[in-house]
Amino acid sequence: MGSAGRLGGVVALVTGGGSGIGRAVCVRLARDGARVAVADRDGGWAGEVREGLSPTPPPLHAAFAVDVASQDSVDAMVARVQDHFGTPPSICVTCAGVTRDEFLLRLPHNHFDEVLSVNLKGTFLVTQAVARAMVAVGAARGSIVHVGSIVGKVGNVGQANYAASKSGVEGLMRSCAKELGRFGIRCNAVLPGFIRTPMTARVPSKVIGKFAALVPMGRLGQPEEVADVCAFLASEDSAYITGASVEVTALLRERLTSQPNHLIGSLTDCSRAT
Ligand code: NAP
Repeated sequence: MGSAGRLGGVVALVTGGGSGIGRAVCVRLARDGARVAVADRDGGWAGEVREGLSPTPPPLHAAFAVDVASQDSVDAMVARVQDHFGTPPSICVTCAGVTRDEFLLRLPHNHFDEVLSVNLKGTFLVTQAVARAMVAVGAARGSIVHVGSIVGKVGNVGQANYAASKSGVEGLMRSCAKELGRFGIRCNAVLPGFIRTPMTARVPSKVIGKFAALVPMGRLGQPEEVADVCAFLASEDSAYITGASVEVTALLRERLTSQPNHLIGSLTDCSRAT
């Protein structure tokens, strides 16, 4: 679609852009005409995604290495994005995330800290740095999209750390929406169910099959199906939506809520396998 698309030439920063949902978001935003800053812990993966977006070398799209859990790293990355494109991003989609699954009774404290520092503090650091940059240049509008998880709403066995981090992301998003509205910056979240990515590829197929059976459509989601919703929230097609969470679960949420113990046996298998 190129620069004539609905995001015509705007700069979009995507964290976790080197893999899974983040990668699909980069592809989708580029197709809508955005100039994409692909940011990931692994600069090599980010570079590979950038190359896939367009055969044209930078400056159309660019790749950046970042550790979202480190304020210095995030601030430096946002400054480099602004240097490269000559403007701060007006779209930011925070996809960087990790899991360290274990039952509560066995959960090591460093695994709790690690998940919180990437998923929640990382989302805060990126949001703050990007919002500061937008406000500093007097940007007329901006859109920040946080990738949360339906697990943050309903909980999940073996994921106390992950669920806590993703609940936090929703609270963060709502507060940001209230504070940043007066600057024309919207903030929303997508809450995916179970999506086929490298994150879920570690889960044994038997367990995946049980999750898929809980979904009325009988399958896991694809990263592109989450990316489509992120692109909608990033664009002016959602101009009067802020502070909202959009569930992308194909009704998995209801089943997880009503049958919370259904998967405990499966997750025991899963935690043995990982
Ligand atoms: P993924 O394929 O593992 O992608 C996550 C990306 O984030 C990876 O490239 C990862 O790099 C990067 N990352 C991790 N820690 C980072 C850090 N400190 N700084 C910068 N980048 C970092 O997983 P995904 O499934 O696409 O997940 C994307 C987002 O969706 C996550 O926030 C996840 O919690 C959320 N989500 C996923 C699902 C699902 O079913 N897949 C469901 C709900 C929500 P490394 O590979 O080096 O760690």
